[in-house]
Amino acid sequence: MPPEIADAFPVYAALYLPLSINEQRIGGAMLGYFEPRAITPEEMERGEQVAAQVSTAIAKAKLLHMKHLPRPSAEIQLEFSFHLMEMTTLVEATEALLSTVSQFADYDAGSVMLLDPDNGDVGYFAAVEGYTDPAEARHRTVYVSTIPHLAQMRHERKEIYFADVRGNKEWRPSHQPDPREVRSVLLVPLLSHQQTKMVGCLTLKSYLPDAFSQEVRSNIVLLCNQTATALGNLRLIEETQRRLNEVTILADISEALNRTIELDDMLQLILQRVMSLLNHSDDYTTLQGAVILRQELGDTLRLAVGYNLSDAYCTYFNTRPFYSHDSTFAQSILHGEWVEVNDPEEIAKRIEYAHADLVVEELINIPLRSGLEVIGVIVANRVIADPMTRRLVRTIADLAGAAMLKTRLLSQARARAVELMEAHDTLYRMDQQRDEFIQNITHDLRAPLTFIRGYTDLMIEGAMGDINDEQREALEVIQERTEAVNRLVGDILKLKQIESQPLKEEPVDLVAVATNAVRSAVMSARQAGLEIQIDHSVEQAFVLGDAGRLGQLFDNLLSNAIKYNRPGGQVSVQIDQNEAKVIISISDTGIGIPEAELDRIWERYYRAHSTVKTYAGTGLGLANVRRIIEAHDGRIWVRSSHQGTTFTFELPISSENIQAIDSPPMIL
Ligand code: ADP
Repeated sequence: MPPEIADAFPVYAALYLPLSINEQRIGGAMLGYFEPRAITPEEMERGEQVAAQVSTAIAKAKLLHMKHLPRPSAEIQLEFSFHLMEMTTLVEATEALLSTVSQFADYDAGSVMLLDPDNGDVGYFAAVEGYTDPAEARHRTVYVSTIPHLAQMRHERKEIYFADVRGNKEWRPSHQPDPREVRSVLLVPLLSHQQTKMVGCLTLKSYLPDAFSQEVRSNIVLLCNQTATALGNLRLIEETQRRLNEVTILADISEALNRTIELDDMLQLILQRVMSLLNHSDDYTTLQGAVILRQELGDTLRLAVGYNLSDAYCTYFNTRPFYSHDSTFAQSILHGEWVEVNDPEEIAKRIEYAHADLVVEELINIPLRSGLEVIGVIVANRVIADPMTRRLVRTIADLAGAAMLKTRLLSQARARAVELMEAHDTLYRMDQQRDEFIQNITHDLRAPLTFIRGYTDLMIEGAMGDINDEQREALEVIQERTEAVNRLVGDILKLKQIESQPLKEEPVDLVAVATNAVRSAVMSARQAGLEIQIDHSVEQAFVLGDAGRLGQLFDNLLSNAIKYNRPGGQVSVQIDQNEAKVIISISDTGIGIPEAELDRIWERYYRAHSTVKTYAGTGLGLANVRRIIEAHDGRIWVRSSHQGTTFTFELPISSENIQAIDSPPMIL
């Protein structure tokens, strides 16, 4: 009798009855007596009968059990491999492994541990079943090298089976389930990379000894291999999903940063996002943080925005003040390094900004860069545990740096714009004062000019006595110069007129206006030895406007085309029209305008260098022309070369024009 039974049951006599099926021993039954006695032959016979009955019952039960035997393993394996293909997460796949294994094997507790792909020594439980405290298991980190069975398995890449751990010295019981009850333990490695690398481990425990037969074990090994292969893909899927989340968060932030142009709003936004990434539900201290910037990119620091920080603290920080070589800032701001400390004693040594309102048991400093410069730092009382959040926060900090640079440039541009506006206003005022001054002088010049001109004419005509040739010549110079001043006065007054008098709005036929202008210019063209012609593809071309001003416009352009021409040259006017506009070109074969001066000819008093000395003029004509055209909602442009110049302008046609084309006006 086994000693433990002898201890538990102090019997004096015992009848042992073997149990067998088809002459094969399957176990035994024992009848024990608590006092010494002999067993009678009848008792012996009855006992044998009972044993035979028990054996038959067991045989039947086994048969019955066979009927409920699991489906053929190949079928389950196949189904599992299809099932794995549908999985999208590691946890799903490991849970499926455990539940499929349960179709083969009766286990009381099972777990799947996966190893960190970046560090093969660190593992975590992805799925557990039958554990008394599953949450505890899930949070536990396993270090393979510290657990002999796991280390051995990683080395040998083969399953380990303890048919009965009781009394087995090699077995080191683990926490769960109650190690006192566990009898058989099976550890199967999850092998990938053609079975060369252990990526995890399945552990099954049973309260029965030898619970996992050889056949069951081989089936489980197959399932584990399938799972290990699938894990590689699932890791990729999870990584892609994670990246996608990351990209979504970043896109959201960069969109928000792009929308924000005020620096403080932007800093607030950045801090909020970083804090929400640092915030874990199981944190014990209040999350606090701030964006600290280098003032004017110098040495002094400024706490720009805070998160869960009291006003008292912000004021303390900014009035003390702090510098970029203080505390951890020396590392993060001066050297641009990411600082993370989670040892409170170390923190107490390193930070100087301790304050009653601040709880710092962990510390992070995230540098904010703009190009090569560190412009500030995000600080918080929390370190970052997982690499994904770290990467994300790093990218946000980079985005923030770029966005802050943009804001800085924008505010500089704004300041510059304000300066320019002010300069523009000053110039405009000065311009107006100058115009007023010129207008006043011009007005005052008119009367004396009339006298000078009148008396000069009289003297030349001899009405004031005889004059000699020299005197005549002198008087003619006076006459000519007076005429020039008179023209200037006339132009200046015209300009004033255009600016001060309201524009008439009546249908004007530009063909008629142009024809009149050409007719008046014929004489001076002939005197200059030029040919002048007009061509129009429409009979009439109506615009809404001021006939007088439009006439002035033609006079100016035609007189320039004649004045800046060469003897034997030509001046031509072309009038065309489309559905919306009347287009008019005035071309000459004259001296042309140098390319560099083309933009300036529209300015008041501007005259091309080449013409200043040789030709009389005021530099006001084209300024007037442009004003008239713009007042009529049109536009004008010029093309010029040594062969000549063409001014082209277009004006919107008036609705009267269309009627006019349909029914020509009656001539009375
Ligand atoms: P100006 O009284 O000097 O003619 P405008 O304002 O009419 O003043 O013209 C400005 C300058 O543009 C002229 O001085 C001349 O240099 C140049 N310019 C204008 N029209 C022509 C042209 N048809 N050919 C060559 N130069 C021209």
